Amino acid sequence: MGRVNLKDTKINIVLLFVYYVIFMVNTSCDGCSEGFTVVGKIRRLNTGGDSGAYLCRKCWAKEMVWRKLRNETLEKSVRFPIIKFPS
Ligand SMILES: [Zn+2]
Repeated sequence: MGRVNLKDTKINIVLLFVYYVIFMVNTSCDGCSEGFTVVGKIRRLNTGGDSGAYLCRKCWAKEMVWRKLRNETLEKSVRFPIIKFPS
């Protein structure tokens, strides 16, 4: 009985950790709807003030292309910063 309970406890801890990773850590990209994205491949892009977007490498690149195009029509002082995807 004791052994079984110990095993169950270990399984519960593993499950809790999995749930933590899935729900507590931001794992999905704000830019695409591919669903579950592996932890570590999402980076936060500040969009001014306290706000930001969580983006995957692909959407980050897309955002930077959009920014470059947009910058062509903007005054130098209000241009968007072009930021490399943090590794
Ligand atoms: Zn994405």
